[in-house]
Amino acid sequence: MIWVKKIVEGYIAGVDIGGTWIRVAICTIDLNEVNLKKKSTRTLKENKFSISTSICEILLKLLKENQIRKNELLAIGIASAGPLNTDTGVVFNNANLGFRIIPLRDPIENQFPRIPIYFINDGSGGVLGVHYFEAEENEKDNVVYITMSTGIGGGVICDGHLLLGKEGNAAEIGHGIVNPKSKVRCNCGAYGCWEAYSSGTGVKLRTLEGIKEGKLNADLLLEIIENDTTKITAKEVFQAARKGDILSCKIVDDCIFYTKVGIGLINNYYDCSSIYLGGAMMNDKDLIIPELIEQFEKDPIRFSINHPPKIKLTKFQDEIGLRGALTYAKYCIEQNKIVI
Ligand SMILES: [Zn+2]
Repeated sequence: MIWVKKIVEGYIAGVDIGGTWIRVAICTIDLNEVNLKKKSTRTLKENKFSISTSICEILLKLLKENQIRKNELLAIGIASAGPLNTDTGVVFNNANLGFRIIPLRDPIENQFPRIPIYFINDGSGGVLGVHYFEAEENEKDNVVYITMSTGIGGGVICDGHLLLGKEGNAAEIGHGIVNPKSKVRCNCGAYGCWEAYSSGTGVKLRTLEGIKEGKLNADLLLEIIENDTTKITAKEVFQAARKGDILSCKIVDDCIFYTKVGIGLINNYYDCSSIYLGGAMMNDKDLIIPELIEQFEKDPIRFSINHPPKIKLTKFQDEIGLRGALTYAKYCIEQNKIVI
């Protein structure tokens, strides 16, 4: 009989790479909350190695501050905005990280040789974070995570397995085309992507276009930004919508409508028990979540033929991707059935 020694000691590192922030954490393998140490920095886009350099610097700092030696690290889990090749650890065609090709595995392995590095699309990482840290027993096997942030991403656990696809990008949901005849161009190059309407970047760009077109009144928004359009982010648009700004209300309505379309498609494809939402757009969750819940509780058929999922908000907000990266490293070294 072969005895498998259960790994109970040692540390794992988690990294979450987003369009705006890079977050890094270390924790004991049991993911005990008390031992979770974190740091973050803004995502530098000076050259294609800026991101890997930032990650190594922060991780080394975290190890030093907590008196942990490099060789006590059992694994590093890296969740990145995709698409990325999870074997080679190269991000490609990304819309928000500044470069079309971003190598991660090689430069990080140079700094952390002999430590296994596991790459995962950040949306898929997020759903693992939900799975480990907050999903209820009766929804764990069929749960989806959607991040609405600089971009839109997702992760899907279906029948108790994380869906990965040929390179690990099985749930690039943000680039699902929700409006094929649209003239709204997404950062990825396609037209009518969900992300082009409902992400922070999408809301900002659509608002700038709307102001330029001048068809809808945007006086209240212009007042908030003191006529300086460089100040526009999703935050200001939602703020203006609350005050009744006509253009901003239209942009927010579209953001929510196309999110309903996206959620309906996800539920048709994966028949999920629950969908958790997270990401920076949830700063305005009070305008977004109740409308989604009402739609899928009262009139789901307009958007999905399957029985509707429960719509929930992750309680870990923008930390769920980081927690997912840690979970992925843990599940990989423990060979959890979710990821194999
Ligand atoms: Zn796109």
